[in-house]
Amino acid sequence: MSDLKYCQGPECHTHRTKDRIKGPKGNKTYQTRRRSHFYYGNGNFCSLWCQNQWFIKYGDRAINHFGRLTEPKILTEHNAWYKDYDWRSEGGDIYFYYNSLTKERRPLTEAQYNDSNYTINTGE
Ligand SMILES: [Zn+2]
Repeated sequence: MSDLKYCQGPECHTHRTKDRIKGPKGNKTYQTRRRSHFYYGNGNFCSLWCQNQWFIKYGDRAINHFGRLTEPKILTEHNAWYKDYDWRSEGGDIYFYYNSLTKERRPLTEAQYNDSNYTINTGE
């Protein structure tokens, strides 16, 4: 039970559905949804509506906090690598980096492919 977490939607409790009704008999209230798993927003929201409500309320502050873009990002051959895999490959390099500008392909190990911190991109 301790693994249950609350939907982070600031207006979740105002959405009046039966499953949000909680509390002892005679004192039932609409409450924020609580689940072991949510499907939206990295597992933080019970619905897209709750995710959108969060963004409407906090989005500008979050963007300013983590760094608002003030100039365009530019795709170059140094940051155009993305990870991909070829499930049809037999014995060859199943996992690889592919450069969307130069069309170059470089082999990756499965561990490198699964490591979200591993990158050969340099610069933004
Ligand atoms: Zn919610």
